[in-house]
Amino acid sequence: MKILPYPQKSENISGSFCIDGNAKVFCENEFVPQAERLADLIYESCGFFLQFTDVIEQAQIIFAKDAELPAEGYVIMISRGVATVTSATSAGCFYAVESLRQLFNLDVKQTRIVCSDGYIEDSPRFAYRGFMLDIARHFFGLDVLKRIVDLMSQVKLNKLHLHLTDDQGFRLQIDKYPRLTEFASVRSGSEVRTGGESYIDDVPHAGYLSKQDVAELVAYAADRNVEIIPEIDLPGHFVAAIAAYPQLSCTGSVTEVRKKWSVSKDILCAGNDNVYDFVKDILDEVCELFPSQYVHLGGEDVAKDRWCNCKLCRERMSQLKLDSVEELQTHMIEVFRTYLQQKGKTVIIRNDGITASADKRIVSQVWTKVRHRKAARLANSGHPVIISPRRRVHLHHDYNALSLKKTLKTNPYRRVPKSQYANVLGIEGALWTQDVQDEQQLFYLLLPRMDALAECAWNKRHRDFLHRLQKRLALYDKLQLNYNRKFVRKHNENPVADAPQGDTI
Ligand SMILES: [Zn+2]
Repeated sequence: MKILPYPQKSENISGSFCIDGNAKVFCENEFVPQAERLADLIYESCGFFLQFTDVIEQAQIIFAKDAELPAEGYVIMISRGVATVTSATSAGCFYAVESLRQLFNLDVKQTRIVCSDGYIEDSPRFAYRGFMLDIARHFFGLDVLKRIVDLMSQVKLNKLHLHLTDDQGFRLQIDKYPRLTEFASVRSGSEVRTGGESYIDDVPHAGYLSKQDVAELVAYAADRNVEIIPEIDLPGHFVAAIAAYPQLSCTGSVTEVRKKWSVSKDILCAGNDNVYDFVKDILDEVCELFPSQYVHLGGEDVAKDRWCNCKLCRERMSQLKLDSVEELQTHMIEVFRTYLQQKGKTVIIRNDGITASADKRIVSQVWTKVRHRKAARLANSGHPVIISPRRRVHLHHDYNALSLKKTLKTNPYRRVPKSQYANVLGIEGALWTQDVQDEQQLFYLLLPRMDALAECAWNKRHRDFLHRLQKRLALYDKLQLNYNRKFVRKHNENPVADAPQGDTI
């Protein structure tokens, strides 16, 4: 089966399907946008337009509804000169068109479409199939983000999580606090790491998403069944905003957007009421901008030295009868979780920010190896989890450290007993950008590992992955995207090893 990600069920049928400029399409109203999208892809590939007809018997391509199918699922039956696409929702229909795009070879120029007859019944393994991009360390704007949404949606990934804020930059327009973009989105230099050495350059780096950018991105992504999940990382990783509003920290002494990458001890003060109000104001605007059910609040790498020595933080611990600074972080998160819940939002926190007393409604994003056991415990105790193992799906790692195969072989259920599988919402890849300075580097690291991530998120079967990957690589060539070409060479040198085993669709 030459579709990536691999479909859940497929079967070859003897016979073949062929259409040219005389082909007609019949479509139920609900799926017209998807049928038009297929027509556009066919025009781009073959130079002819599909004609729409109201007479189903005249059609060679039919889009029909079956409300019983899974929300993101679809069925394609190609037989006796007709391709019938059935789905329950526009999301399922979108994915059916993406599968037809691969079956019909629509990313290359051709004069007509020829394809073997066959049957596909498909739906995702996980509802949460995510990818996170850090646009705080190095900023990537609307054009790159739209391109990433395109690439994700083609392989049926459906959550783009944006790491919008960090010590080195605040990348989202917030009307109430203009210094977050005027000041906190600019740093005067960056740490450069080469061969074990590092230095700070004096090249300014700046950028942020305006509210108009976000609205455009959210709408563009929604058309492609991709949800944009915002992350405001706190109480650590907040130096850029603290530099703009120094009263937010325990010491009030930070006045510069951080240039080094390592973890800063300067974090939000957990004893100051004004800090809570400030964050709630930001969250108000975040919730207005992003319709996603989720708001990610980061929570990792929180050095609590300042809290131990801060009068306000110690008073807050004493008032709340908290035994540890870890519990103070749990309290802080709980304040924002409750606030966001009132707005209908679910909070995601990275696993190092979650203690035993954390509310069970918090989704835990599990990323560290040592915490993997904890991940299993979190899932076992009723916490929903998103799996993002650092050594498997953190795609900024060099290919020598993280091979395509390693990403492909990620097991999201590792150490989780079968009875708790329902608590695993899905899997998310991550690309942190401390050392990623431009688009060329970004796409080289991302591609084709994003395809392996998608394969893993959609289906646990990975037969003939490299063979099916060839069409994706051809598309990257067409789009002039930089990607790791090692896999092309490997396939060309040894095509038999990756040849399909009996599937002709
Ligand atoms: Zn404090």
